[in-house]
Amino acid sequence: MCTEVQGQLPAYVGRSLPRLRRRLVGLHLRRCPLCQQTFSAQRDLAAGLRALAAPPESPPDGLLDALLAQAAEPGLKARAAGPARGAVSGARPALSAALLVAGAAVGTGLGYAGWRGWRRVSRR
Ligand SMILES: [Zn+2]
Repeated sequence: MCTEVQGQLPAYVGRSLPRLRRRLVGLHLRRCPLCQQTFSAQRDLAAGLRALAAPPESPPDGLLDALLAQAAEPGLKARAAGPARGAVSGARPALSAALLVAGAAVGTGLGYAGWRGWRRVSRR
């Protein structure tokens, strides 16, 4: 019985079990501490996954400002190359820095101006 019940626990936790089976599993859970333990572990896991999957309502206050301020700072390339080298174990730190600089350019409006210019050219 335990094997059968535990096999149905994911569906039970996800509330996709037919009503009769749901009742049977519920009855068994009340009497069986082992299955109860498995059930609460799976329920916690499902709740954790839901929390992870749910998008945050909005980015933290000031995050955009902080990113823009960071992007506008001179010496970004030098600072970006440092952590990137360690983070990706030496894989193309220059490229990471270039991407960060490109992101900074977009953030400061340079990218937008460039994009507009490109559109004007491509319409011809
Ligand atoms: Zn059981």
